[in-house]
Amino acid sequence: MNTEERNALSLVLDENIAALKKELVDLEEQLQPITPDCSLGDLLRSEMMCNQEVLQGRYETAKIRYNRLKYTKSKCNDDNYGLCEICEDEIALQRLMIMPETRYCVRCASERKK
Ligand SMILES: [Zn+2]
Repeated sequence: MNTEERNALSLVLDENIAALKKELVDLEEQLQPITPDCSLGDLLRSEMMCNQEVLQGRYETAKIRYNRLKYTKSKCNDDNYGLCEICEDEIALQRLMIMPETRYCVRCASERKK
């Protein structure tokens, strides 16, 4: 990986981190505990509970990715950034551009899923 590519990826990491941070703030605002309110019908309440569960799930997923991106960002100047942790081959740049936090090349990632 050359310096130019590394800089481009560092930028992609920054953009991803900023976008996720915003998403986390938005989700946090929407994630409010549902207070027992007699004026709400049972149906509406269960609908809200369900909604909160969906939001909670999205929040957890975003949080995990956010932490992973932050970690990657702190390591992206290391020599082994962009190398697959399993086979130590270079990870394709296109893949890193979409998923800068990935630690495996396409081949190893699909091996792992099996
Ligand atoms: Zn690999």
